Amino acid sequence: MERKTAFISGASRGIGECIAKTLSKEYDVIINYSNSEESANNVLAQLDPSGHHKAIKCNVAKGEEVEAMMKEIIDTYGHIDVIVNNAGITRDNLLLRMSEEDFDSVIDVNLKGCYNCIRYATRQMMKQRSGCIVNMASVVGIMGNAGQANYAASKGGVIALTKSVARELAGRGIRVNAVAPGFIDTAMTQKLDDTVKKQMLSGIPLKRFGDVQDVANVVKFLCSEESAYITGQVINVDGGMVM
Ligand code: NAP
Repeated sequence: MERKTAFISGASRGIGECIAKTLSKEYDVIINYSNSEESANNVLAQLDPSGHHKAIKCNVAKGEEVEAMMKEIIDTYGHIDVIVNNAGITRDNLLLRMSEEDFDSVIDVNLKGCYNCIRYATRQMMKQRSGCIVNMASVVGIMGNAGQANYAASKGGVIALTKSVARELAGRGIRVNAVAPGFIDTAMTQKLDDTVKKQMLSGIPLKRFGDVQDVANVVKFLCSEESAYITGQVINVDGGMVM
């Protein structure tokens, strides 16, 4: 049987890197990044040698760049089976100090980036009458967080987008789900100060921060046939932070 393809946005480090490595054992993986070329090439070199993998530079916030990237993927592989919308940024600040630019850039990458990738990949998935989409949300999109109004709004939007698109595409054999990580140890969270980290830890029943593999395992499940009857769901990977 032909190998399936999996596209992962923001896979040059962190959670996306781990998802790419995990899926590369079964899928041909397309790694996306917007700036970190060296890092993306490093990840590419570490993917499972059984597949035909590729790295593509593209800012997911820009519709025309995403359209060109999806065309390149379809021209190369002939099909696109899995989309993991993982690229994300933070620009934290209290609302009164949050600039319009910081609000817009977070919405553009985290929410519009998902819309762009889904929009330009689903025509092909609809032709195939199959596909899996996994969007990276956050527990913050469910519970809110002081100092992250832009980020929380983007992730709440990702959850609503997931449920709406799941309803639209179910009849075409395409499943759409979201993963909502809690506090995962990556570059994004390493920049938080120790007091904040201590405070976060006290609210995690499993008493540890998450590992990137904790998230990648759930993404792998949501892309597989083992989750064939699951769509429109948000799976928290948060050590019990939100119940
Ligand atoms: P990270 O370490 O900061 O990695 C972010 C990735 O996104 C990088 O590969 C980055 O590549 C890419 N990226 C950023 N802007 C992009 C753009 N415009 N177009 C394409 N790629 C772009 O973040 P992470 O912690 O792994 O987080 C991954 C996802 O999980 C994000 O959606 C985040 O919101 C979500 N999440 C993380 C946590 C956590 O605790 N870490 C918790 C909840 C949710 P470049 O440097 O090349 O741009």
